[in-house]
Amino acid sequence: MARSKTCPKCGGAMNEGFVVDKGYGTAEVAQWVGGPPQKSFWMGLKLGGKEKIEIVTWRCRDCGFLESYAE
Ligand SMILES: [Zn+2]
Repeated sequence: MARSKTCPKCGGAMNEGFVVDKGYGTAEVAQWVGGPPQKSFWMGLKLGGKEKIEIVTWRCRDCGFLESYAE
């Protein structure tokens, strides 16, 4: 995948980045999880056994549009 992009909204240049997922004293890259969210009484959401992929998010420098990929 090419590491430069043009914004589909305004044609501006986009910078690669990621969305951070902050927990108690931790910071991780947000992930795409397959299937609908299932609530767990103990942990917020059930994640066991599901497909998980770290999300790459591009941001347009001009208009702020975000475009995300789970590669
Ligand atoms: Zn833009």
